[in-house]
Amino acid sequence: MRQVIIIGSGPAGYTAAVYAARANLSPLVIASSVEAGGELMNTTEVENFPGFPDGIQGPELMEKMQAQAEKFGAEVVYDDVVGLDIDGPVKTITLGSGAVHETSALIYATGSAYRKLGLDGEDRLSGHGVSWCATCDGFFFRERTIAVVGGGDSAMEEATFLTRFASKVYIIHRKDSLRASKIMQERAFANEKIEFVWNSQVVDVLGDGALTGVVLEDTVDGSRRELALDGLFIAIGNDPRTHLVHDKLDLTPDGTIWVDGRSSRTSVPGVFAAGDVIDPTYRQAATAAGSGTVAALDAEHFLAALGEAGAPERFDDQIERLPVA
Ligand SMILES: Cc1cc2nc3c(=O)[nH]c(=O)nc-3n(C[C@H](O)[C@H](O)[C@H](O)COP(=O)(O)OP(=O)(O)OC[C@H]3O[C@@H](n4cnc5c(N)ncnc54)[C@H](O)[C@@H]3O)c2cc1C
Repeated sequence: MRQVIIIGSGPAGYTAAVYAARANLSPLVIASSVEAGGELMNTTEVENFPGFPDGIQGPELMEKMQAQAEKFGAEVVYDDVVGLDIDGPVKTITLGSGAVHETSALIYATGSAYRKLGLDGEDRLSGHGVSWCATCDGFFFRERTIAVVGGGDSAMEEATFLTRFASKVYIIHRKDSLRASKIMQERAFANEKIEFVWNSQVVDVLGDGALTGVVLEDTVDGSRRELALDGLFIAIGNDPRTHLVHDKLDLTPDGTIWVDGRSSRTSVPGVFAAGDVIDPTYRQAATAAGSGTVAALDAEHFLAALGEAGAPERFDDQIERLPVA
């Protein structure tokens, strides 16, 4: 039986693995069969992760995180978790291959998925003009023409934020009114750089190597036209990957996994959650990494209390300072 198993190999999972491995807990990381490395594998330049003043490619950053975790003894398995039994003191994890693992502490770091338009060019041009994160990528669009797809608060927030960089920001919305809160709407309406494109949906993403524009379809009369763009930000929602634990862990109204205050403790003892799967707001690599740190420290604390971990003294000292609800 393992002491710690981590589900997910994004910044949260690998950071938890670094800490757990350095605490001699020999963590097993279930990395996923096709999406190992998490969301940053889908992007190019990452300029806001501390420690890389010249930026770093997303996949390279994730390779480094994995190497760091493995260096200290973490084991990585490229498989998907398909079943979980987390009720008792022994947590049972079933993988797609049929392998079954048992652990005392489980760290759940499965991230969240940005909703996509479902168009062919979308993934192909991800990181080459198509983005789901204004905080991450807005900086790359200085004096460019971009569009935000969506009609909710996050679309208004992204569009307003992007006007700091872009010369022009279109907001493309399927209807003729927004579902965003009044204050967010007013802010967007008052911004001279923002132009609304009503009753329109993106039906094609254009560009070979880099985005050049989109094809818009009028949702009233079905007519189509092209809109030239340098950037397309898709802000139509986000789904925390909680399907394995819907009926097992408490969730928040946002659909993220509920955790106790600033800790990673979920509603089930011995199960900890970290990263975007608990975060409806910030969803950044650095915040996910910090959250993974918290989860590893909480898991270590939990195991030490069980009498299993034999936590080193210096680690106990750190744990004493953590807020305990
Ligand atoms: C295109 C793009 C660009 C971005 N650019 C930046 C940026 O420049 N800077 C920045 O700070 N943030 C950026 N972000 C946001 C950042 O990627 C996320 O905030 C961060 O990756 C979240 O880390 P995480 O570990 O919580 O989840 P993720 O990175 O999503 O990792 C979750 C992991 O869990 C695995 N998983 C899920 N379900 C299972 C299962 N059943 N079994 C096994 N494994 C499973 C997944 O495969 C994945 O490996 C970007 C996001 C996107 C989509």
